[in-house]
Amino acid sequence: MEIKRNILLNPGPATTTDSVKLAQLVPDICPREREFTAQMATLRQDLVRVVHGDPARYTAVLFCGSGTLCMDVCLNSLLPEGKRALILNNGAYSARAAEICRYYGLPHIHLSLPIDQPIDLSILEQTLRETPDIALVYATHNETGTGLLNPIREIGALAHQYGAIFVADTTSTYGMRPISIEEDQIDFCMASAQKGLMAMTGLSFVIGRRDLLEASQGYPRRSYYCNLYRQYAHFERTGEMEFTPPVQTVYATIQAMQEYWVEGEAAKWERHTRVFQAIHAGLEALGFQELIRREWQAGLVAAVRCPDDPQWDFDQVHDLCYAQGFTIYPGKVGTANTFRLCALGAIDVPDIQAFFQVLRDALETCGVAIPVRYH
Ligand SMILES: *Cc1c(COP(=O)(O)O)cnc(C)c1O
Repeated sequence: MEIKRNILLNPGPATTTDSVKLAQLVPDICPREREFTAQMATLRQDLVRVVHGDPARYTAVLFCGSGTLCMDVCLNSLLPEGKRALILNNGAYSARAAEICRYYGLPHIHLSLPIDQPIDLSILEQTLRETPDIALVYATHNETGTGLLNPIREIGALAHQYGAIFVADTTSTYGMRPISIEEDQIDFCMASAQKGLMAMTGLSFVIGRRDLLEASQGYPRRSYYCNLYRQYAHFERTGEMEFTPPVQTVYATIQAMQEYWVEGEAAKWERHTRVFQAIHAGLEALGFQELIRREWQAGLVAAVRCPDDPQWDFDQVHDLCYAQGFTIYPGKVGTANTFRLCALGAIDVPDIQAFFQVLRDALETCGVAIPVRYH
């Protein structure tokens, strides 16, 4: 079977291998069969292994849905009665976390910080010192809107020093940038199968501490379908998701996991890094500027400033690239006019070199001056 290969430079879903795509073609099976639940059990263990968690202390809880579901689940399920969450917001994804808190009416402090620099630890510490009822600190590892890396280990250490748990949104780093859940001071992290693992959309997972999951049994139940303890307890009791799982996506994820172990954590991160360097080099050659200082980038998402050229039209450039099999993505930054190029997925340097030829042609077709111009 020939499947057209598209190069996705958007921040997930990512380009997948054909073997992962084809892993979805399985005989029909009821997910309550032992054959299926046995596969889920191995997958849960593997998800913990990716972040080097001790399986006696950490576990993975799977959900059917996109990555935002895990943000929702962690925030609505891990806050005890009478306590507050602290949302460290320096980008669009942590702004979403604050919005989730507002939807549930959760008591929370929303620290709105500059989006173009890592979270300032002194502001965090001051807030923790002045607010003793904070029970949960939330931050995003790689702010996917800008590509900014936050110092999760230091944030987690401060949260713990002040008696709070630390929830890190690792959706856009998990399976790419190496994470050690314990050393990185993470109590709960999360991702979805279509990002770092290079599988399909529809399966998302929270990885976290068993003792804290057990402790959350008595916390207020604020959602029926999206409660972390409820899903965890069901998995522990039956090995299954409480409600219907995304069966074919689970098979694709199991295949993607096998490919993850074959490639290896270090080699995979090295590949993402050389892809990212090729993106930087291609941008530089065309004169593009980036939003975030290089040393603050997580190494996976480049937020690129749109040129100040009357001929520049993102949609037109996008469509010309898309026609050649390459997807670029609009920005997610308040006022700054940006677009994004990401180093996720089963791609390598030659794909990026081919992309920049296509992008150059698209700019010429639009009449955008090269090198691109800024005021
Ligand atoms: C992709 C992503 C999510 C989840 O987005 P969905 O569209 O729900 O899959 C959450 N947080 C971060 C940091 C992400 O990159």
